Amino acid sequence: MQPDIYNLLKTHFGYDSFRDQQAEIIQNTLQKNDSLIIMPTGGGKSICYQLPAFAMEGMALVISPLIALMKDQVEALRANGLEAASLNSTTEGSESREIAQKIKSGKLKLLYVSPERAVTPAFIDFIKSKNINLIAIDEAHCVSMWGNDFRPVYTQLPTLLNEKSDVPFLALTATADKATQQDIAQKLELRNPKKYLSSFERKNLQLKVLPAFNRLNHIIKYLEENKDASGIVYCLSRKSTEELATKLNQRGFKAAHYHATVDGQKRHRVQEAFQKDEIRIICATIAFGMGIDNSNIRFVFHYNLPKNIESYYQEMGRAGRDGLNANTTLFFNYSDVHILKRFIDESEGDDTYKKVQTSKLFRMVDFCQATSCRTNMILSYFGEHRSQPCGHCDNCQNPPQKFDGTRLAQMAMSASKRLNERVAINMLTDILRGANRHEISQLGFDRIKTYGAGKDYSREQWLDYISQMINLGLYEVDYTDYNKLKVTPVGGKVLFENEKVELSKPREFEKALYEKPKSKTQVFEEELMGILKSTRQKIASSEGVPTYVIFNDATLEEMVEEKPLYKNDLLRINGVGDYKLEKYGDQFIEAIQSYVNKGSQLKSLKGKTYLETRSMLKEGLSPEEIAKRRNMNLITIYSHVAYLYEKDEDIRLEDYITADELDLIEKEWLKLNQPDELKPLYEKLEEKVDYYKLRLTIAHYKKKKATFQ
Ligand code: ADP
Ligand code: ZN
Repeated sequence: MQPDIYNLLKTHFGYDSFRDQQAEIIQNTLQKNDSLIIMPTGGGKSICYQLPAFAMEGMALVISPLIALMKDQVEALRANGLEAASLNSTTEGSESREIAQKIKSGKLKLLYVSPERAVTPAFIDFIKSKNINLIAIDEAHCVSMWGNDFRPVYTQLPTLLNEKSDVPFLALTATADKATQQDIAQKLELRNPKKYLSSFERKNLQLKVLPAFNRLNHIIKYLEENKDASGIVYCLSRKSTEELATKLNQRGFKAAHYHATVDGQKRHRVQEAFQKDEIRIICATIAFGMGIDNSNIRFVFHYNLPKNIESYYQEMGRAGRDGLNANTTLFFNYSDVHILKRFIDESEGDDTYKKVQTSKLFRMVDFCQATSCRTNMILSYFGEHRSQPCGHCDNCQNPPQKFDGTRLAQMAMSASKRLNERVAINMLTDILRGANRHEISQLGFDRIKTYGAGKDYSREQWLDYISQMINLGLYEVDYTDYNKLKVTPVGGKVLFENEKVELSKPREFEKALYEKPKSKTQVFEEELMGILKSTRQKIASSEGVPTYVIFNDATLEEMVEEKPLYKNDLLRINGVGDYKLEKYGDQFIEAIQSYVNKGSQLKSLKGKTYLETRSMLKEGLSPEEIAKRRNMNLITIYSHVAYLYEKDEDIRLEDYITADELDLIEKEWLKLNQPDELKPLYEKLEEKVDYYKLRLTIAHYKKKKATFQ
């Protein structure tokens, strides 16, 4: 018989439906075929092997190179009441023995193993006699020299795989171009694998590139507007991670720095605090990220330019893994190009390496300067071509507004020429604006004709216009000479031959980001979200697990939206399965109830629905009449009645149900062990008693119990 994978999805993982290709992949595995899965980060790869592991007899093996990630996955599974364990270099002897015991007794359903451990003769020997139902190889691109992150030990995996050739294999990766994909299938000796290629577009990520001046203020403003949000700010240098974290702390934000020379223990602490939401902002070099499984990251800022599009996409891709919207912003700065270029030139690679890296860097620069859809640029970089614009990047959402910029461009270039092209962007801006800077007067720059000629434009505007002129090729930045600006032949045409040039109005970035004025409902909902987050954090801290292991942001948002007030209503929320309902349901329901109950808050809000029912009852309307008037389901109105009754409102239950009925229903309910769900009770009563009476009986019982306690 085919297992009911939809039912397993809800009961074991709490999700209502599969994403994209998940169901197909799972079916393919259940039919014992091999799969090659290329899915972006956050796409939902884990369920593709976790669910079939539970659907089949025996235990699944998952090869995974990242210890932190393994640990998180195991914790997440355990939070759902599912038996999983991991074996790697940090596993102690006693723990290994415990795991072996669990495997023997057939309890363990998923075993995560590091590749180093998986290829040892001892492990292969151990696993020989065990009932394995599938083998998943995570980060499969590590097997290929073409991939981003080759690990020789991966090439030894076929020894293990051959030992269990009767089970399906799944190779999974988030980054593999076409050559790498083929190489994975070949090196892992997959047998006629079905390939599942998901689009690399991350629809929930907003992409933005801004000029770097003002970046600190921009970040601070964003953080003020998004107080509960967690995120990462990537910096180029260790020093700037420290400085930035200090500045943010001074402003009252919970930030920490993270880079490769922070000692191991401290790094571990920072990572843990971040996962538990105790620290909201990590200022990090690229050393931070591998193994971060935090799905609740709401923003990623690139304080500096990433070295290529692969790195950029990987780093910004850590945002929004839970599928909710997230903001990613890159601050572009010409001096970073210079620094990164120098890194390449001074690196130990050979000439070919340097050439490749340099051209990758310039693709990154092209990306920053683009005026068309940025998502499409990234997709085409990874070999996915399309022309339809994405709608979630800055160029799509807020297309550049062009105007005739000839006069402005001439003003700037004429100043440069008069200064013998000896100044870089900041100094030029100050001169155009007639700034009162000691250096300027000392060098006599205030005596040129164009000094102060551009004072009608703000510093930000000038910096933006000059950046655009560089992008348009009117200026060239001399990276070898303090980034001084040189007028190019193209610029010369504009300056001397009056050729027209179009510039774009600087975007009102902040406005675009922070526009939405908040309604009362939003304020209420944000407050409730804050309460649910702190409920979650308390539980996470006491259990010593990352917060998203309890529930992720998407699940909390749905709770805020739905405001379930009974435990079994909670089951309707995506992300709440049977196990978590039992374990955490009460705490979340209590939090929602007590918040919704704060009468004063209820005005004009969704929670007011109870008050409306109450006042209509007081007017003397029957639930049937209320349902009609409010155009709502009768059962819903009765659930309001039950709720109000439980909350000591003046409700006469005997108006709706007889004492005999109460007795009868209560007896059956107790026999069934007091399920929160009404359906089994309804069936037990042979579907003869109205649903609403069941609800009222439970309310009656609960209140009775509360009174006598
Ligand atoms: P990946 O390994 O591909 O980066 P994960 O497997 O960690 O992604 O999944 C990313 C997030 O999406 C997790 O928070 C996970 O719980 C959630 N998720 C996965 N599948 C579903 C689904 N069918 N419905 C809702 N959420 C899902
Ligand atoms: Zn776009």
